[in-house]
Amino acid sequence: MGAGDGRYRAAMTNSNRYTLEDLPESPHSRQLKAGFPWLTFSTALEAEFRHRNLSENLRHLRINLAMAITLVLVFSGVEATLLGDALNRIPSIVHMFLMVPVLALCLAVTFSPRRDRIYPPLALAAAILLGLSVTGTQLVASPNGLPLLFPCVLLSCIFIYFMGGLIFYRALTANLLVTFVYLGAGSILRLPGPDFGYDATALIAVNLICISVGYMHEKISRSRFLETGLLRELVARDGLTGIQNRRMFDQHITRVWHQAARDAARVAVLLIDIDCFKDYNDRYGHQAGDECLRAVAISLSQCARRPLDFVARYGGEEFAIVLYEASREYVAEVLTRIQRSIAELNIPHEASTVASRLTVSVGAAFVQPSAGRTYQGLIQLADEALYSAKEQGRNCVVSMEAEYQTLRTGTFDKRRAQRVPEPQA
Ligand code: GH3
Ligand code: MG
Ligand code: MG
Repeated sequence: MGAGDGRYRAAMTNSNRYTLEDLPESPHSRQLKAGFPWLTFSTALEAEFRHRNLSENLRHLRINLAMAITLVLVFSGVEATLLGDALNRIPSIVHMFLMVPVLALCLAVTFSPRRDRIYPPLALAAAILLGLSVTGTQLVASPNGLPLLFPCVLLSCIFIYFMGGLIFYRALTANLLVTFVYLGAGSILRLPGPDFGYDATALIAVNLICISVGYMHEKISRSRFLETGLLRELVARDGLTGIQNRRMFDQHITRVWHQAARDAARVAVLLIDIDCFKDYNDRYGHQAGDECLRAVAISLSQCARRPLDFVARYGGEEFAIVLYEASREYVAEVLTRIQRSIAELNIPHEASTVASRLTVSVGAAFVQPSAGRTYQGLIQLADEALYSAKEQGRNCVVSMEAEYQTLRTGTFDKRRAQRVPEPQA
């Protein structure tokens, strides 16, 4: 093996070492680069994280809450048996008539469609209430010579940190409040010195351990959320232009077609093709061609900005725009915007046979889905319109709408689209 091989391998190894700086620009990558030592994201990402955190862990959360209810009932039974009337059954009563209903309410809310809004504040209030009731029971029991309820304080502390579906800072707030109440009330009530001192130390130690593990746990789940989001963005994006790619176009058009059929809404597909682009590459080089594709992509994405409008790179120097529930006027408005924005780019194209500046041809198809038709047909109609625009001399727009009823070519007719080729003899 020559020295050249070694140098080549070293260069390839170094080029495979990606850093955060290599990530493409996106909300997720920006947050990853900025870090999140305080376990908070920018506002929109934070809302998305909390929503996902709750919905992805919902099954587990329900299991945790059901387990908590069972354990409270078990402890209630054990206390009733072991303590008898020593505390007028206060612990059992608190467990049965306060903790069980509160936990059951939390469990019920996890089934509500509005749980995103209701569950987090309810869980915080419930955590404080449960923590204080367990602590209160312990404080009542201790002067009566029954310090044995203390483990329940530790158990509730651990449950609040890890099992109630609370984000780290909320769990911390609830537990710090409960701990301070325990320490303050214990001192005021002058609980028996050695027992109280030992329990207080244990409670602080458990809090410290849970804070450390809880922080780390949430840091990891936040990182995972950002990485998954980034991966989703990468899969959806066109590497060169940064807009949505063909894969997303295919998914989007399928979804929109079925939705439009249900809503009896109209769908428009606009195919935009750069004129004489091969000549552009030949004249100015592929690098300049790439820059040009980026500029056109950005311009086009600004031409259709309603929430359901969709812009993608269809392939090569072709772009696609899908407009959902678009009126004829809106489609015309977008078409005018496209032509104006490409003209405003004012990119010189001396090799073009059409004009001295870069131009595009646009084929637009505008239909309402009906039985027996397919979305492939809609795309084909847009393609036919684009072909016709090219034939008419380029740098123009051709819209097709009525042709939808008459064209019977290729995949445009569902029966043809689904026809299976005859097996060869
Ligand atoms: P027409 O006006 O009929 O559309 O002609 P055209 O030259 O634009 O179309 P043609 O299909 O002959 O050529 C398309 C060119 O687009 C050829 C290809 O090199 C170029 N192209 C496709 N993808 C890329 C890309 O990612 N970067 C660059 N620089 N060029 C690309
Ligand atoms: Mg083309
Ligand atoms: Mg072209």
